[in-house]
Amino acid sequence: MAAYRILSISDGLAEKVRSARTAPGYGHPVHAEIATGYGPCRLCLRDFRVGVDRRLLFTLDPFHGIEEFPLPGPVFIHEAECDRHPEHGGFPADLRSHDLTVVAYGRGRLQRAEERVAGGGDVDGAIGRLLARADVDYLHVRDTRAGCYDLRVERA
Ligand SMILES: [Zn+2]
Repeated sequence: MAAYRILSISDGLAEKVRSARTAPGYGHPVHAEIATGYGPCRLCLRDFRVGVDRRLLFTLDPFHGIEEFPLPGPVFIHEAECDRHPEHGGFPADLRSHDLTVVAYGRGRLQRAEERVAGGGDVDGAIGRLLARADVDYLHVRDTRAGCYDLRVERA
């Protein structure tokens, strides 16, 4: 079992976006479309099938409820119901082929370090090194090319 937990957005947040069709905390309309990129879906953490899957685009503050200062950005989820990635399920397989940036934060949203992992690289190694630092409380994983937030990592 991995020594860390993978935290995608909550089921409740995804349900809110799917039913209200507005961005939580921001209120502007959610955009629905056929996937033109791989994503991933921020709930199940699987890639979209380009040209096949329907997805919802909305604004997410991944620090909401955790830190005082927001840092919102665009994210996607499947339009249809999907299963949240299990927290103890290890790093999501589909994301391993993406170019990823692992950003390490200390409380107060203080950025302590970051590592970039090329697609197919050792993302577990990067997570292990960053979580081993005493000044780091949690990690965010972002897509290096798009810059968008993918998921949060905490110690198990
Ligand atoms: Zn999904």
